[in-house]
This record gives sequence, structure tokens and C-alpha cells, in this order.
Amino acid sequence: DKTVLKAKFEKLLKFERLESLTPHAWVVVRIDGRAFHKLSKQHNFEKPNDLRAIQLMNIAAATVMHWMPDIVISYGESDEYSFVFDRYGSRYPRSTSALVAQCVSLFTGAYVKNWRMCFGEDCRLKTLPVFDGRSIEYPTNTSLRDYLSWRQADCHINNLYNTAFWGLINLRGYSNVEADKKLSGTFSRDKRALLLEMGIEYDEEPTIHRKGSVIYRKRVKARTQNKLKAASAIVREARKDGRSAAWWNAECEAAKAKRNNLRKLYEVS
Ligand code: ATP
Ligand code: ATP
Ligand code: MG
Ligand code: MG
Ligand code: MG
Ligand code: MG
Ligand code: MG
Repeated sequence: DKTVLKAKFEKLLKFERLESLTPHAWVVVRIDGRAFHKLSKQHNFEKPNDLRAIQLMNIAAATVMHWMPDIVISYGESDEYSFVFDRYGSRYPRSTSALVAQCVSLFTGAYVKNWRMCFGEDCRLKTLPVFDGRSIEYPTNTSLRDYLSWRQADCHINNLYNTAFWGLINLRGYSNVEADKKLSGTFSRDKRALLLEMGIEYDEEPTIHRKGSVIYRKRVKARTQNKLKAASAIVREARKDGRSAAWWNAECEAAKAKRNNLRKLYEVS
């Protein structure tokens, strides 16, 4: 019976590692696509930046934010996304591995689910997208800000390099090896000058490519939030009702429409 079972196996709880989170520290979960260089080739991503792929990353990240209300802001570039958890939030679950696992699985599920919407019928998903994930704690606001600056600097450096690299290939007919050689040892200003020679003013490249994507929560009035809750409650209620009378269906549809309207809680920039 239950008590015997508990007594017998309670000792096993000791084997579970304690991975507790420091109270009031910012927690960042960063995920990164595995071998996306290959995946991007297999699916003919436009180089250096495929906007469909960026949008898919952003949709997947917004989905994670939807399910994890403690995430206050997210930053994405290339095949990675960083999720910042409110330092004063409830942060359930309080174990880092569970937090990472939830982010990764939510993200991957949403990535697969929305692939077709972003890439269309003609570009089927050929491999399983896989993401790794890790969590990092930042004890101060300054260290969190530095972290986000670091990821954005990474985006900038990579994008400047990639823009020059693919410029040489697409506009000058260089091979990959030649382009890489031409760029090795160059500084930012050299790459900018090289791009100008090819007719590209780097600072006029789209912001989303140069700076990455930020998703933050929109402020909504408390009344709107209550309406959102009420709409969700009606939908849940309607689902529970096995009779599914026409009246319930109509009510459910209306509530769903209302909820979808109110759900536009995120802003991407
Ligand atoms: P790892 O498994 O170590 O992360 P990786 O191949 O994923 O290996 P990253 O350093 O993470 O290497 O780089 C991601 C790669 O994915 C980029 O170098 C680029 O080739 C490709 N990529 C990601 N997003 C896009 C995009 N929007 N457009 C074009 N290519 C992209
Ligand atoms: P942590 O304590 O983890 O380092 P933090 O310092 O950013 O994080 P708190 O210590 O909780 O946050 O609060 C300090 C806050 O007080 C700052 O975020 C800032 O808004 C405010 N503050 C402190 N000193 C000044 C100041 N000289 N001028 C204006 N605002 C200040
Ligand atoms: Mg990696
Ligand atoms: Mg990767
Ligand atoms: Mg990466
Ligand atoms: Mg302080
Ligand atoms: Mg303080």
C-alpha cells in the first residue's frame, strides 16, 4: 500500500540533485538550434538572413512567453533565443533543469507546429529541429543588461561578417573559401568599407538583421486582463460541458474570438 511504498522508496528522493534558484536573481534561459548551419542549407534558407526563419523563431518565442508568464523579455538572433524570468516572479518550477526543459520543449513544439505557416507547402521540414538549452543566473540588473548587450553585440558582429561574406559570394562571385580568406583579420571598418564598394551601406540594412528581435509584454489595463480571464473561463467551461449544445458552441466561438483579440499581448521589435 501507499505508506509502505513511500517508506521503501523515500531514500531515492535524496538522489535528486538540488538545483535551486537563487531568490531574486534574474534567470535567463538561452536556447540554441543544433546544427542549424546544416538545417539552414537543407531548407535553402536565404543567406545571410532568411526572414521566414526569423519570423518562425519569433513566433516560437512568443509561444514560450505565452505559456510562461514569468518571462518579462526575450531576445533572439540567428538560431538562438534568450528568455528572461522576472527576478521577483513565482518562477514555477523552481528547479533550473525543469525550467530549461519547459522552455526547450515549448519552443521546439511551436517551431515545428508553425513551420508550414512560415515556409509554405513547398518547403517541408526534412529533419527534426533540436535545441539545446541552459540557464544562467544574473544577480544584478547591471549584469542582466550586460548579458543582453553581449548577445546583441554577438548578433552585430556575426551579421556584419555574414553580410560581407555573402556580398562577396553573391555580388563578386567569390567562393566560400575565397570570401573567408578575404575577410580574415579585417576590422569592422574594413568590412563596412568593403560593403560600400559593393553598394551596401551597412547601417541601412534592416534593423531586425542588424540588431535581432526583442519581445516584451504589452501593458494592458487591468480591466482588459479580467476580460481575458473571463473569456478563457468561458472557453474552458464550454469544453467541459459534454452536452455541447448549440448555445454552448455559439458562446464558445464568441469567447474564443474575444480571447484571440485580447491575446495580442506581445510586441515584437
Ligand atoms: P551548434 O549545434 O553548435 O549550435 P550551428 O550550426 O547551429 O551549430 P550556430 O553557431 O548556432 O551553429 O549558428 C547557427 C547557424 O544557423 C548560422 O551560422 C546560420 O548558418 C544558420 N541560420 C540561423 N538562422 C538563420 C537565418 N535566419 N537565415 C539564414 N541562416 C540562418
Ligand atoms: P541589485 O540589488 O540586485 O544589484 P538593483 O540595484 O538594480 O539590483 P535594487 O537594489 O532592488 O535593484 O534597487 C535599486 C534601485 O534603486 C535601482 O534600480 C534604481 O532604480 C534606484 N536607485 C538607486 N540609487 C539611485 C540613484 N542614485 N538615482 C536614481 N535611482 C536610484
Ligand atoms: Mg551551440
Ligand atoms: Mg546553433
Ligand atoms: Mg547559434
Ligand atoms: Mg542594487
Ligand atoms: Mg540592492
